[in-house]
Amino acid sequence: MTDFLQALATIEQQITAACVQANRARSTVTLTAVSKTQPDEMLVAALDAGLRVFGENRVQEAEAHWAKRRAAYPDLELRLIGPLQTNKVPEAVALFDVIETVDREKLAAAIAKECARRKVTTRCLIQVNTGEEPQKAGIAPTEAAAFVQHCRTTHGLAIEGLMCIPPVDEPVAPHFAFLAKLAAECGLSVLSMGMSGDFGDAIRLGATHVRIGSALFGARA
Ligand SMILES: *Cc1c(COP(=O)(O)O)cnc(C)c1O
Repeated sequence: MTDFLQALATIEQQITAACVQANRARSTVTLTAVSKTQPDEMLVAALDAGLRVFGENRVQEAEAHWAKRRAAYPDLELRLIGPLQTNKVPEAVALFDVIETVDREKLAAAIAKECARRKVTTRCLIQVNTGEEPQKAGIAPTEAAAFVQHCRTTHGLAIEGLMCIPPVDEPVAPHFAFLAKLAAECGLSVLSMGMSGDFGDAIRLGATHVRIGSALFGARA
């Protein structure tokens, strides 16, 4: 596990350096450790190192990883960062603290209904398709502000911020800057953006949550 600890130390240094450059306090950035596909010993290493915020992209795998650990780690924060089908909403609301991928009316309605049924408030982010890629999840940028408003007023959802995954073949900075501007216009303070290859840029452009998988745990199988 020394590899893991070394990787974590390097990432910590890089996050701190980006915060210094951006004149931000380190405490304004949360490292979301993306634990999808990782074996149990990696999850244990991450927990032992003190990490508590984890991102997963599939509901079932996240249940297998984390449901049994909830009791032992009451301060665990689980964030869904992958697409959510409406038929999986009950499981998602039961497990996750934050759903980062709300991107359509039907999903917003289903989350609201399940939250009401369970008498809980699941914190949510709106995923924005900043590159307007047809195959990618996320609300169109031009519809984002109205959708945020709709989720709040019609569904009573606790919308905290925005999330994006920029196109793989484009410079990321314009997408991060655009998401930050959109969030500011909506009065939202949480910005989930930046992954292993670009979290420094994301922090310089205002990310509050960086989602880091391979740089932390090594390449996924
Ligand atoms: C897998 C994944 C990540 C982590 O990607 P890395 O490049 O391994 O850091 C971040 N965000 C989302 C939405 C993902 O699915």
